[in-house]
Amino acid sequence: MKKVIVLAIVILSFLLTANKAGAASEPKRYIGLHDKMLPIEDIRVIDGDTKVLFEDIAKFLYIDFIKENDKLKLSKHGKDVSLSLPTAKKPTDSLLIDENGKLLISMKYIADEFDFKLEYFPKYHTLRVYRDNYPHLSHQGYEGIIQSYVNKKQATFLEKPKKADVYLTFDDGPNKFTAANNRTLKKYNAPATFFFLGNNMKNYKDIVNSVNADGHYIGSHSMSHDKGKVYKSTTAFFNEMHEGAKLVQQMTGKDNKLLRVPYGSSPLVTNSMRQQLIKNGYKMWDWDVDSKDWQYTDKEANQIFLNVKNGVTKAYNSGNRSIVILMHDRSQTTIALPHIIEWLQKEGYNLKTYKPDNHIVTNFFRDPML
Ligand SMILES: [Zn+2]
Repeated sequence: MKKVIVLAIVILSFLLTANKAGAASEPKRYIGLHDKMLPIEDIRVIDGDTKVLFEDIAKFLYIDFIKENDKLKLSKHGKDVSLSLPTAKKPTDSLLIDENGKLLISMKYIADEFDFKLEYFPKYHTLRVYRDNYPHLSHQGYEGIIQSYVNKKQATFLEKPKKADVYLTFDDGPNKFTAANNRTLKKYNAPATFFFLGNNMKNYKDIVNSVNADGHYIGSHSMSHDKGKVYKSTTAFFNEMHEGAKLVQQMTGKDNKLLRVPYGSSPLVTNSMRQQLIKNGYKMWDWDVDSKDWQYTDKEANQIFLNVKNGVTKAYNSGNRSIVILMHDRSQTTIALPHIIEWLQKEGYNLKTYKPDNHIVTNFFRDPML
């Protein structure tokens, strides 16, 4: 007995999966009546016959109906027909199908019985119901109506509200990988935020200029990135960060106050270092999602994508609506970046660059002043 139940479950889950996959690949279908498009959502093609949610089509075609005993009785203009209602034993009839409690009826049957004609427009998966003795556009003219209806539907679909703001951030540039990342960002029309090292900026003026010209935010990531130097004292720390910011200002003309400290703020940044930043009007970003890109080789770049995907999903599910992702200007990151952006855009995330007038507090100390 146990074996039979297990087997039944296996078969059932296979059928459910197979059914789901089939439904997903089916194109969206539409029904039209004379010169209109009908707002019917439940349309299925089963064995080459279009089936439509019965209650919807009855309403639009002014067909009266009652369910009596095991029959569905239909009438229009004095013509009466009846069909057997699906039962638990026999859920499908070729004309009337019970699909999870929804009653779907054959459009061909309706047309034949109540003197309608049908015309199928394969390009738009649209079935037009019409009568010769009722004024209507030519099929060619009607195709224009379908087209604008479908376009409008797709536009509404694309305008769906964005899930959350996502900030892509790149540390340790500028270098040759910065240029590659910037090209990818341009290709996908994706804004980002870069935290540059002062000592590199001097050597890559062209890259600084192009990143700035493309509208990305550039913040300081210290001059040297040398842990021993940067965190030696409060003064050393402030000078490293401040000098970098001054260099950004000299090279871009922008007084950018957002910083990212090397190795993350906690536990290296002391209370007195924080006070020094606050006193001088600086803001400090850590991150919500660590891509851990520096750990991987070029061949393992897919792992970077997976880290971002899992991290963003987790952050979103926990309620975060301004998600900051940490990446670096490195070779393996340039490989992962297109996949990361494609996934974020497909999922409906809104990619943004940092804007000082819309500052989001993102530091490990949860210090609201930074
Ligand atoms: Zn760094």
